[in-house]
Amino acid sequence: MTYSDPYFIERLMMEFPFLQQMREYIGSFGIRLEDFAEPGMERLVEKAVSRVEQALVHGVRASYGTGAKPSEEEILSYPLSIALVAMLEDSYATRRFATVEAERYSRLFEKIDPGNVRDVLYFVAREVLRMDVKLSNPPYEFRIHFTDYLRYSVKLNEPRFKLVNRIMDRGYVPLRRPEMLTIIKNALEEYIEERLRSIGRIPTPDFLKPHVERLRNALETRRWRETEQARSKIPLESWPPCMQALRQRLLAGEHVSHFGNFTLAAYLINIGWETEQILQLYAQRGDFDERIARYQIEHIAGKRGGGTRYTTPSCRTIQTHGLCIEEGRLCGGIKNPLQYRRKPGGKEKR
Ligand code: SF4
Repeated sequence: MTYSDPYFIERLMMEFPFLQQMREYIGSFGIRLEDFAEPGMERLVEKAVSRVEQALVHGVRASYGTGAKPSEEEILSYPLSIALVAMLEDSYATRRFATVEAERYSRLFEKIDPGNVRDVLYFVAREVLRMDVKLSNPPYEFRIHFTDYLRYSVKLNEPRFKLVNRIMDRGYVPLRRPEMLTIIKNALEEYIEERLRSIGRIPTPDFLKPHVERLRNALETRRWRETEQARSKIPLESWPPCMQALRQRLLAGEHVSHFGNFTLAAYLINIGWETEQILQLYAQRGDFDERIARYQIEHIAGKRGGGTRYTTPSCRTIQTHGLCIEEGRLCGGIKNPLQYRRKPGGKEKR
């Protein structure tokens, strides 16, 4: 199957409503904004509002990307979701919606038949995102021009993504499939955000005012929660040395044992981090699987299973796993990393 195959285009259209072909398909229905006020359109409106609300409040949910094809209802309500985000006139909402949509699409890419993923990624990179990209041979199936690579890898913290650590072949950077997926996810985020900004201001019609109000309230709740959390969060320099080391290894793409991952996640939950923030930290890893990571974090936080919230393992347990730093010399005899406090001058105390 190649991207000139009409069936290939149709399948892509159904799953990725931002494609030009999909916009034309939706356009062929001749739907205007005021048509959503007609009797019988309530379900489409609710779909569109829920999609935005879900993105603003919850981010990418575990239920996303189940492999089920979107219904026609979902497809036709998509342009209204975009219009609703524009009506909010809020740059935080724009950014968040773009991030969540990009994450959702990247999960859909993972669901595509492995035999076709290479063609799909190539199509989206070249035809939608206008990247200078070439197909190559495994394990480096893609070669992307270094200017595109730099543009979309700049936000990635893992050292392996830094250009100095990459091979460069006549101006092109060879990439493995998961690396290409990460680059495409970043590019999609930028693409969707630009599209939303380019729409500009849309006056809210009367029939949508209560819905836009509902979304504004959801946005305010989200913002308030984030501010509260930022206030209560312990700054990185005040984390115990073992937790700083685990975070460092995670960001460096080094192997972290199951116990190490559990310990860091339990620590973050207990100092007040939310699932979404912990996911963002773990998302820096190349082998990140959002569905599994979310399940594990929610399990530790007591939101799944028996509802038990796990505390951070004791220093003694962490020591037996070889993850304590300098045998606790820096920590003043504490029993649990949650007891660690660092004085403003830099000295640790209990
Ligand atoms: S003493 Fe406890 S808090 Fe300090 S590094 Fe060791 S395990 Fe971590």
